[in-house]
Amino acid sequence: MDLPAHLPLPLERGAPWWYWLAGRPALDFTNTLRERWNRRVETLVCGEDLGEWLVAAELLPATPAVTDDVLERARTLREAIDAGVVASLAGQPVPDATLIALARELPHATRPETLTRTEDGGVAVVLAEPAAPAVHGLGLLARDAAEMFGAAERIRVCASDTCSARFFDRSPAAGRRWCSSRGCGNVEKARRHRRRQKETPQ
Ligand SMILES: [Zn+2]
Repeated sequence: MDLPAHLPLPLERGAPWWYWLAGRPALDFTNTLRERWNRRVETLVCGEDLGEWLVAAELLPATPAVTDDVLERARTLREAIDAGVVASLAGQPVPDATLIALARELPHATRPETLTRTEDGGVAVVLAEPAAPAVHGLGLLARDAAEMFGAAERIRVCASDTCSARFFDRSPAAGRRWCSSRGCGNVEKARRHRRRQKETPQ
């Protein structure tokens, strides 16, 4: 998933550059900082971006208000998750700092309970809307990351040299190598083909 070489940076808005192939929200989230190996392109540029991203990721039903503080908190959470991803890729345990960051947001993953009257006049306990929806979204991301680190051996980074896409390998044989077989997979196959042609004496 290469970005155009002549992208005006920093971006004004991130939405055109989001992508969704990681197989779970926690890794789609880490992929919002693109080209980690080179230009480190921030696609959660402003609070509106984060609000829209949480809806696009199907974590929230409606775009929440996002303060600058919550945006900063989201980026901190994202980089804490990514530190765990990098450690997992290197076969190391998830760092304590990552666990602390996840534990800080986890309580916001749950929604309070409230009462409602049912159609037949009875009473039912239902989940209330979260008081701070954007923060609830961060809680859901922290929960997904925590569950993911329980199966850390399936965390991958795309095998392309020019792609930092993280993804969760759900293939039965755990053999997925590319963020997308049509994108990076094809580009790499073409590269190898050219290399072979050069090596073959004409
Ligand atoms: Zn890729």
